[in-house]
Amino acid sequence: MNRRRCEVAESTPAGSGRRDTLIGVRLLVVEDEARLAAALQRGLSAEGFVVDVAADGPGGLDLARHGGYDAVILDVMLPGLSGYRVVRQLRAERNWVPVLMLSAKDGEYDQADGLDCGADDYLTKPFSYVVLLARLRALVRRGTPARPAVLAVGGLVLDPATRQVTRDGVDVGLTTREYALLEYLMRRAGRVVSKTELLDHVWDATPETAPNVVEVYVGYLRRKIGRDALETVRGAGYRIVGP
Ligand code: CA
Repeated sequence: MNRRRCEVAESTPAGSGRRDTLIGVRLLVVEDEARLAAALQRGLSAEGFVVDVAADGPGGLDLARHGGYDAVILDVMLPGLSGYRVVRQLRAERNWVPVLMLSAKDGEYDQADGLDCGADDYLTKPFSYVVLLARLRALVRRGTPARPAVLAVGGLVLDPATRQVTRDGVDVGLTTREYALLEYLMRRAGRVVSKTELLDHVWDATPETAPNVVEVYVGYLRRKIGRDALETVRGAGYRIVGP
């Protein structure tokens, strides 16, 4: 919570110097709750933002693609196409516009889901308007994030931005967990990674986590990326090698 408090403190009252930097900043609000969308448009316009509103997923995606926005406020639950699908699609098209996601507090989705699919920040509804403004300011100041670097080990290529994996140019379809395991290993390519380290970092292991889960997933992964790409180092762990 420290981070949130710090960002609230960072926000400056309307009329102070920093507010000027927001004048003309172009925002897209994708929100199907008409009253909330109207309130955001009114409030943010008064701060100096130029605000467009879309009321469903497909409309939001279309505007985000072509509108040249500085940031997008994106609801998760939207008619037509969820906010997750919208941001995932934008990232797949190599559109890196900063995205702040809004989600209901029902716990159906969590923060990790939103950030996983390419959002830059996340707020849970109901949110404080002051916090929203502070987060937006931070996002806009940061600007469009640099595209995450593609990882390549031999013929194995992993793009963290689109979560696409290829082996010798051929698409490899991975589940979320397989992907997480491969990304962890590829970021440590050439190094032996122990089973314990994988359990801690890829599984957030609890005492209930099956001890053989790593072997099982290593097996799944090998079937997809090729046995030669993932070595077992007896008694020590696993190592990604350039196939
Ligand atoms: Ca909604």
